[in-house]
Amino acid sequence: MENEKKSKFPCLVVAILLIFCSISCIVGLGFLLFADYDLPLGDGDNKDKNDTGSSTNIESNTEGYSSDNIPANDVEQITIPELDFALDALKLLKDRNWNGDKDESLPISISDFNQNKLQNYIDYDIAGDEKLTIPAQDEDLYLSSQAEAELQSVLEQSRQEFLDYLSEKGVAQKYIDEIKEQTLPIERITYHAENNPNSDWSRTEALLLEEEITKDYRKLVMHIYPVDIYNRVRILNNSRIFGNPSEDIEYKKTVRDAALRLLTYHEMTHVLQQAYINVHLPSEYDKPSIKSLWDKADKNLVGVHSTEFFWDWGNEVYAASNNHTASDESQAEGVAWEVMVDTYSLSDTQGQALWDHYLGRLYNEMQNLEEIRRIFESEFPDYNPDEFYTQLKPLAAEYSGVGSRTLEGIAGRLIALPAYVGYLNPMQPEDAEGLWNTLKS
Ligand SMILES: [Zn+2]
Repeated sequence: MENEKKSKFPCLVVAILLIFCSISCIVGLGFLLFADYDLPLGDGDNKDKNDTGSSTNIESNTEGYSSDNIPANDVEQITIPELDFALDALKLLKDRNWNGDKDESLPISISDFNQNKLQNYIDYDIAGDEKLTIPAQDEDLYLSSQAEAELQSVLEQSRQEFLDYLSEKGVAQKYIDEIKEQTLPIERITYHAENNPNSDWSRTEALLLEEEITKDYRKLVMHIYPVDIYNRVRILNNSRIFGNPSEDIEYKKTVRDAALRLLTYHEMTHVLQQAYINVHLPSEYDKPSIKSLWDKADKNLVGVHSTEFFWDWGNEVYAASNNHTASDESQAEGVAWEVMVDTYSLSDTQGQALWDHYLGRLYNEMQNLEEIRRIFESEFPDYNPDEFYTQLKPLAAEYSGVGSRTLEGIAGRLIALPAYVGYLNPMQPEDAEGLWNTLKS
């Protein structure tokens, strides 16, 4: 796994791990884990202090950016090589009348694939590392001690902005209190200053308990890495919502901080999802070390905005878990967009540009993902697509051109397929009311 890279998404999620796993992973483009910890809840005074304290008091720079007139820029569709590779394989398997047996090697060989396409996937992946490495001239904005303090501060502010937005949307106070007191107190979020396109994923996961053996799945920790901020900086630059990209330091800080917000709001949505579960947890499960809490709670937020994008996943048990993951990611992307629009008072034009460049860039791959789903569900209905990576990786390892390890890594990322279903089917603004209404009581 050492050569495995994350996909270029954000993330988190949970459930996959519960069933399968030993992988400790991620989400971000991958997956996630959940863990947490045991902090005293403190009294009201302490709570307030925690929630307003930040490591440096920098001005919140979210005002004055609303504009109906921003430069137009075409949306650049992204390639997700793992999905393209999976679709190529499925088409071959369909032609070979594969029996869908997950325990046998696939009846195809790597030489059956279009070799130019395979090399393109590898080249694209390697180029992605370069694009996501922060260039020397920008390192001070992410890695210096001042930058570290600034970004930690914006991170903490972003958490508060998210909570304020929940209040604005009429979310019941019990969920907001649950986040502040247990699910994610402010001291459990951390910015890690390192310039590495293959760093750990930015993620929200369960708190590791003191003995470092067990986790408290009710309590989360959030880790944020520069690569995921920098990836969003590129997206925001392309969107032009803050005007044309510039070398001006103030412009760069504005976009950097906005990118961090976009990432944090996504992760905070996962915190909200966990808080909702915590509030609806029967007392016998309301304690550390209990896994799969989403399944034990009387209520959760799975599918409250839409279930149209859910997959069959071969059987009901996998479907419950994987659609939970997909739903969490779908909501997180939609909510992140919505809170960005609110925090920066974006105009309709800017909001649309943000949507198009952040989520619309996935449209072509969403079509590929739908085709993958159609082939699995019509040709191999008993197969769990979530396990496809286990059969594709050995196939990728057979590649004799330059970069077989990279191709293996690409195939391995399909371990996060349920999360991809969510990323590529973001909650639409018109579906968000279903989520907010559910959270009112
Ligand atoms: Zn996520």
